[in-house]
Amino acid sequence: MCGIFGVEGHPEASNLAYLGLYALQHRGQESAGIVTWDDSQMHAERGMGEVADIFGGNALKRLPGSRAIGHTRYSTAGTSVISNAQPIVVNTSVGPLGIVHNGNLANAARLRQELEADGSIFQTSSDTEVILHLMARNPRADVVESLLAALREVTGAYSLLLVTEQCLIAARDPHGFRPLALGRYQDCPVFASESCAFDLLQAERERELEPGEVLVARGTEVESFCLPQRAQHAKCLFEHVYLARPDSEVFDRPVSESRLRMGARLAQESGVPADLVVPVPDSGLFAALGYSRESGIPFEFALIRNHYVGRTFIEPKDSIRHFGVRVKLNPIRQLIEGKRVILVDDSIVRGTTSQKIVRMVREAGAKEVHLRIPSPPTAYPCHYGINTPTREELIASNLDLEGIRKFTGADTLAYLSLEGLVKSVDEVRPPSEPEDTTAYCSACWTGKYPVPLEEGATAQRVLFPLRTELADDDRQVSVV
Ligand code: AMP
Repeated sequence: MCGIFGVEGHPEASNLAYLGLYALQHRGQESAGIVTWDDSQMHAERGMGEVADIFGGNALKRLPGSRAIGHTRYSTAGTSVISNAQPIVVNTSVGPLGIVHNGNLANAARLRQELEADGSIFQTSSDTEVILHLMARNPRADVVESLLAALREVTGAYSLLLVTEQCLIAARDPHGFRPLALGRYQDCPVFASESCAFDLLQAERERELEPGEVLVARGTEVESFCLPQRAQHAKCLFEHVYLARPDSEVFDRPVSESRLRMGARLAQESGVPADLVVPVPDSGLFAALGYSRESGIPFEFALIRNHYVGRTFIEPKDSIRHFGVRVKLNPIRQLIEGKRVILVDDSIVRGTTSQKIVRMVREAGAKEVHLRIPSPPTAYPCHYGINTPTREELIASNLDLEGIRKFTGADTLAYLSLEGLVKSVDEVRPPSEPEDTTAYCSACWTGKYPVPLEEGATAQRVLFPLRTELADDDRQVSVV
């Protein structure tokens, strides 16, 4: 649940990183940070909250240099504190390094124990820091060699950006769990989790990094390296279901298109007579439109979202999350009253959101409420970088379809089949790419984890940068 952005060789690197992160705000609102290299030192700024609040003032003036990376974060566990923010910036035997990471390493706990037994002193409890220690332990003449050696040791999910003295490095794990794309802004290489960041800058999107690919950007040049590990690709389908913005391309596939197809398939698989198709905004929007087009049942914007409230699920406290549903959505009675409503939301996690929305739509006068979900029942937690609750909290790991229907209060409930979901995403691939329905991770629905999670690997990330001056309570400024 993080967004990462990088730019190489542009005099306004930190301004561009700020704009890129602004477009990636939906991937995490807990904290954000940027680190730049100005040909003599690293400059880092991290803060709690949203990108515009952290970097809207004078912060960008303290980030000189033409090489920058940035991060928006929502942590997989633990408290909302400044020490959780990325980038991590350290001085190592291979020179100063700044790193940002989207994903979760599967073997970080064991590696850390081994490194500590061997004398490493960790400054943080972050899985990301393991990569830096492995690099520092393996100094090579070229920092890229050090990174390649480190990445041979780690398993799990990582899309990474690193700032070094010589270059900006982007890396994607051999399974390709999380997205990471290369673009060009005025000839300068730019990198982003999602292409909506390129759109904001009017940068050209070139391509997604291949799983297992490492790109090294020096000035306008980009060199490609390949990690030696071969792995079955496991691109996260939930990026297409929920996480990514619909105006992004993710895994070289337009998200709006895959969502329209998910909705259309859902209508084919589990159509029901009704008067209206109503999306739960914003996450159910495109699937609802696809459902409506396929079924011929009119689409209505009958739930209005207050855009000044963040994603309900992302609120840190349970009490606020439950309250948040009503804060966020309001039904239009005139559209709903006396109607048979098909309600489309992207997923059901704990079930509390759906329960409240179904009740809300009924209270607005709906005669029937049919809940349609364009993804399978979420029954297993994600180990690869998406914040999902434990199995006990996931409604689909405790109740069967009828039990969930009863809990939500809907008249009928249907989910999209996994096969239907995979096809919806796979068939919007570029024409040059062959069909491959095995290239995706579906662990949150099937429990089949492509990379086994070693014990302790979900440990909370708590970061304590090496040299830190506290500018104020909510901000950290470091110079390394
Ligand atoms: P609930 O079933 O009440 O736990 O919440 C489900 C809602 O949260 C869905 O409507 C999604 O839009 C949203 N959601 C699903 N997965 C996530 C996630 N990993 N992080 C944030 N929001 C999510």
